[in-house]
Amino acid sequence: MADDTIFGKILRGEIPCDEVYSDEQCLAFRDVAPQAPVHVLVIPRKPIESLRSGAPEDAVLLGHLLLVAARVAKQEGLDDFRTVINSGAGAGQTVFHLHVHVIGGRPLAWPPG
Ligand code: AMP
Repeated sequence: MADDTIFGKILRGEIPCDEVYSDEQCLAFRDVAPQAPVHVLVIPRKPIESLRSGAPEDAVLLGHLLLVAARVAKQEGLDDFRTVINSGAGAGQTVFHLHVHVIGGRPLAWPPG
């Protein structure tokens, strides 16, 4: 599957990232424009465009992304953290390769903007 997004380029090693975790299914790296002291993105190696395009066969992979998000939060020393998946431009998605934001290290208000 072609993936012309910036995250596709990161996965192919065409542009660098600040990696914090990697396995055969996913990659986690620091967000280039962090919104909190800890802001990591967890992305599947499979180029799923957004949560909207997740298929039944992706169930295990989607669960794995959440487990990795929690693992990364722990690795970063966070007890409390927020996971965010923006789906669609109207919800704030700017990179159309599924990603889980892991955000923490400061008080986080609710509801979000
Ligand atoms: P979203 O707006 O939910 O699609 O999130 C995309 C995120 O990707 C934003 O928080 C950006 O700051 C981040 N981002 C964009 N380009 C890069 C990059 N090259 N390395 C790390 N994070 C990036």
